[in-house]
Amino acid sequence: MGRLHLVPLEGEVYTCRHCETQLALAGDIFSRFFQCSHGKAYLFSKVVNVYVGRKEERLMTTGMHTVSDIFCVRCGSILGWKYETAHVVNQRYKEGMFILERFRVLGPDGNNCCESEDSLQEEEEEEEEDDVADDSLNLP
Ligand SMILES: [Zn+2]
Repeated sequence: MGRLHLVPLEGEVYTCRHCETQLALAGDIFSRFFQCSHGKAYLFSKVVNVYVGRKEERLMTTGMHTVSDIFCVRCGSILGWKYETAHVVNQRYKEGMFILERFRVLGPDGNNCCESEDSLQEEEEEEEEDDVADDSLNLP
């Protein structure tokens, strides 16, 4: 138990769908235009609270890559993978980055935990001073 150190994130976070452990910030999304076999996937430059599985060679649409699956550090469910090495030169930018499969995570737009408070602004109306009183008399 004492070995589970979760890194807290602040802002628009993506969380594990199963246990809601915080995983990544929307600001760290490098690309939303990835596909996995299950649908959409996002490429993140940084992901926390995951552990990395064994490296393996995987042939993807963009060529051969060495990747490791990544798992939620709390509940152990698979979340996506990490690019360790890209064998194709123009894919090297992905090395060290992480894929989160969209259907495995909850996005910041998916949970309405943060209601935006409408701050009521008090309108200060300037009272116009009329020299001419309408129908009221100023009594001394
Ligand atoms: Zn989890």
